Amino acid sequence: MIANRIAKPTLTAIELVHDETLAFTRLDGTCVSIKLVATQAEIITTTLSEIGKTEPAATTVYGFWADLCIDGENVRVEREVGTQKSFYEPLLIKGLHIWLDAVDAIFEFMLETHGHCRLQENASHYKPPRRHARIVVQDASLSICPEKIHPWCPLPEDTLNIEDCYRGEDCWMGAYDGASAHGGLDINHPVGTPLFAPINLDNHFLFNATETGHNNNRWRGIRQWDDGTTWILTSCHMTHLTIPEHSSLVAGTQYAEGAGVRVGVAEHSHFSFAVLDHGELIHLDPWILFWQMYRDLP
Ligand SMILES: [Zn+2]
Repeated sequence: MIANRIAKPTLTAIELVHDETLAFTRLDGTCVSIKLVATQAEIITTTLSEIGKTEPAATTVYGFWADLCIDGENVRVEREVGTQKSFYEPLLIKGLHIWLDAVDAIFEFMLETHGHCRLQENASHYKPPRRHARIVVQDASLSICPEKIHPWCPLPEDTLNIEDCYRGEDCWMGAYDGASAHGGLDINHPVGTPLFAPINLDNHFLFNATETGHNNNRWRGIRQWDDGTTWILTSCHMTHLTIPEHSSLVAGTQYAEGAGVRVGVAEHSHFSFAVLDHGELIHLDPWILFWQMYRDLP
C-alpha cells in the first residue's frame, strides 16, 4: 500500500499501517520512500499498582518506537513520553524533517479517556482495526507553515519544561493519573497569563463556555491554508476572551487571559492541535507548533 504526498507550505500529517509506504515528494521534485515496518511501546517506570488502570496522581513514563525503511535504509525512531525528552527534535533525514507523533501500541497499556489522541480506526475492510503510527513530515527547507508562529503564551527560556505540564505528566499523550493518554499539552502559568493567536486565524470562538453552563471555557481557532489544509487550534481553562468571538485574528493578537477556570491543582492552560488534510482529521502534538515557535523567536 502506498500513500503519495507532495511537500506543501504546511506540514503533512499521516497515519500508516505496518508495511504501508509514504511516497513523499520533496520541493525539488524528487521522492523519498518511507515504509513503516514495525512499531512497539513499553512502560519505562510507573507507580501504578495495576497497569492500565488510572490512580489519582500516579506517574508513568513510557517509550515507543517505529522501525522505518527510508529509501532502503532501516531507521529506528525512538520517543519517550513523560520526561523532558517529550520535547524532542524531529528526525532530519534525506532533506526531510520527520516527527514520530504516536504509535497505537501505547494503547496496550494506556486509555484514551482524557481527550482525543488515539490513531484512527481503519475502514472496515482493512486489518488491523487501527493505524499503527502517526508521523508528520515536512521538507526540511520549509517551516511547518508559511508564516512565522508567534508564541501562543509567554514561553519559558530555551524550551518547554516537563515539570510545568500540570503535575509533570501532561505533555501530549502523557500519562494522566498514570494510565490515561493526555489529549493535549498543559503549560502551567498563573491565572491571567495572556494567550496570543499563534498564526493568523480566519475565525475563533468558544465551543463551550461556563456562560452556557459548561464546566470550562474551551476555545477554538481555525485557519484554512491556501494549500487546502485546515489547522484547528484549541485552548482551554481561559478566564475570559479579550476579543469578541467569530472574528478573524492577526497572529500575535491577545485573545484571552488563561489558566483561571477548572485548573485543578495547578494553574495551567491546555493546548491542542489538529489538522484536516486529505479529508482526515489528525490530532497532533502541540509541541510541533511550539518547536517552530522557538525557532521563529526574534
Ligand atoms: Zn490538559
